[in-house]
Amino acid sequence: MDMREVVVIGAGISGLSTAYRLKKEGVDVVVYEKDDRIGGTIHTVKEKGYLFEVGAQTILADQEVIDFLKEAGIEPVEASPSSKYRYIYKKGRLIPLPMSPVEFLKTPLLSLKTKLKVLTEIFKRGVDEDISIADFVREHFGEEFLNYVVAPFISGVYAGDPEKLSLKHATPKLYEAQKKYGSLIKAFIKEKTAGPKGKLISFGEGLGELINALAQKLEVHTENVVLRMRKFEDFFRLDVRGKKVETKSVVVASPAYTSSYLLKEVSFSASEEFDKIDYPPVVVVNVGVEGKFPKVRLLSSESGKKRILGAMFMSKLFPGRAPQGKELLTVFLGGATDREVIELSEEEIENIVERELKEILQIDCIDFMHVQKWKRAIPQYTLGYDRFLNLAQEMEKDYPGLFLTGNWLYGVSTADCIRASKKVAQKVLSFLRPQA
Ligand SMILES: Cc1cc2nc3c(=O)[nH]c(=O)nc-3n(C[C@H](O)[C@H](O)[C@H](O)COP(=O)(O)OP(=O)(O)OC[C@H]3O[C@@H](n4cnc5c(N)ncnc54)[C@H](O)[C@@H]3O)c2cc1C
Repeated sequence: MDMREVVVIGAGISGLSTAYRLKKEGVDVVVYEKDDRIGGTIHTVKEKGYLFEVGAQTILADQEVIDFLKEAGIEPVEASPSSKYRYIYKKGRLIPLPMSPVEFLKTPLLSLKTKLKVLTEIFKRGVDEDISIADFVREHFGEEFLNYVVAPFISGVYAGDPEKLSLKHATPKLYEAQKKYGSLIKAFIKEKTAGPKGKLISFGEGLGELINALAQKLEVHTENVVLRMRKFEDFFRLDVRGKKVETKSVVVASPAYTSSYLLKEVSFSASEEFDKIDYPPVVVVNVGVEGKFPKVRLLSSESGKKRILGAMFMSKLFPGRAPQGKELLTVFLGGATDREVIELSEEEIENIVERELKEILQIDCIDFMHVQKWKRAIPQYTLGYDRFLNLAQEMEKDYPGLFLTGNWLYGVSTADCIRASKKVAQKVLSFLRPQA
């Protein structure tokens, strides 16, 4: 039996970008993927003249990510500048999210009381402890700000519940900023970096183009589920679809719940812990629509009052997404606050989307719909998430040659996964070539 240098388990963006960096350093690396396609939660589909994403939609790319794409020879397409405008659905109407201090003072989205609270946030003190996003925002900006400004963003990124998500782990930049300055407004004035930064991008052929470009440079085997992993003295033995594969090191780049069963024979207690990470469901509905529409590029619905969590006119963000005269609207449902949606039939989901789009955007000319259900969509960085991160670190220390990665360890966005691949590849290289 041949001894491989590195086996990567999972051909999502975490696995592929790590494998790509290793291959560039001349490492012998093979990627095993259980599904018949690559990409994991990145999946671009072409149907009836539309090009749409059924999972991740866009990448918020900073310079590090742009450099990675350049190195990999992939040309990004920037979203139209209007992508920064967001609308919130409140009490039956769409209200633009204020983008400047003047707009903030004038917006009907927030009451005078909330505006005054926001303006006096500058005198607040920061926290050291692990508190929920909701508790922090309530204390610093008030309940209304939580409901109409923060919650829609949290459902947009995490499909999560701000009452459960940890400020420290889910929004680490905000946590660090408030710790340093006490107030987020002060942090924003001083550093202009309170929020996430970067360019919103995709590719001519959608995010799938990135996945295919990386995979083309790698040895990737689809329909090759890894079922078992055992650690021996100085190598690992994997059961891969009926065959045994031996390797000096393994990068486990699968979701926490699958990594959990793969780690069973390495450390049972750690494996049981990882299985506790919550992944609420998300349903993505791509809707082809005909006609002219208001200048809405992106909206988040009023939390709790509608089942639609948010929607984006993807055809207004990127060219080539819809046939002439039509638009592509991508709608999200489910998440931590509406888990039942996953149990509905496609027809029931389509009916909800049709009804709510009519109410919110007066859309009544639907050309086509595509429903994608993600039963376990996005890992939730909840309070106490330290314990999972510490455990992952301990495992890597206790079992040399074992490396864990994925959106449940280094941040949920695609950009986080790409950035993490640099650190993970460096760790693997130092293990394989300690003298270098
Ligand atoms: C609906 C939705 C919308 C999103 N929108 C955005 C967005 O707009 N922007 C953004 O930045 N991020 C977004 N994300 C998040 C982003 O898509 C993910 O965080 C990222 O793609 C995760 O990549 P990953 O490689 O860590 O995991 P995955 O994509 O989950 O890949 C893991 C891979 O491992 C494989 N695997 C599992 N078990 C085994 C096994 N035993 N053997 C072999 N292979 C195995 C799986 O089949 C899968 O292909 C979204 C996610 C979802 C679900």
